[in-house]
Amino acid sequence: SFFTEIRTKCWSSLSFYDWCIICMKSKYSPHDCRLLTGSILAHELMHGWLRLKGYRNLSPEVEEGICQVMSYLWLESEILPASTRHAQPSTSYASSSSSSSYRPPSSKKGGISHTEKKLGEFFMHQIANDTSTAYGDGFRTAYKAVNKYGLRQTLNHIRLTGGFPV
Ligand SMILES: [Zn+2]
Repeated sequence: SFFTEIRTKCWSSLSFYDWCIICMKSKYSPHDCRLLTGSILAHELMHGWLRLKGYRNLSPEVEEGICQVMSYLWLESEILPASTRHAQPSTSYASSSSSSSYRPPSSKKGGISHTEKKLGEFFMHQIANDTSTAYGDGFRTAYKAVNKYGLRQTLNHIRLTGGFPV
């Protein structure tokens, strides 16, 4: 599929120029491409962040898994209304500095169309049900860990052990 084609290239071999071409050729409108582009950027920026922070020798499953989680969380933050995001009450985001969980941006999402929401849900479904070891199994293990321990603690654990907390 289109999504798989993009994702498997993972931007390691895909330049921004290539990306623009694929976007233009795709059946999605440029507007719809926003979600896909954003989710890929979230994934790739996480690779960059891991490098910058000195995370080394991660297995593909751990590295791609946590990157897919960032992609997924970004999509979620884009398409879900603030009230339904994660189990945590939204007030704890602002008040608690000790909270280690992912904190979605508090931007307004009033302008999102039904089609865009459906597309976002489709991408999230693709991420969650990916059958590959690195991306699919990696994501599911990472997502479970992040929901259980929070993003920061999961990342600390990865840094120390190279694996996900269970
Ligand atoms: Zn990747």
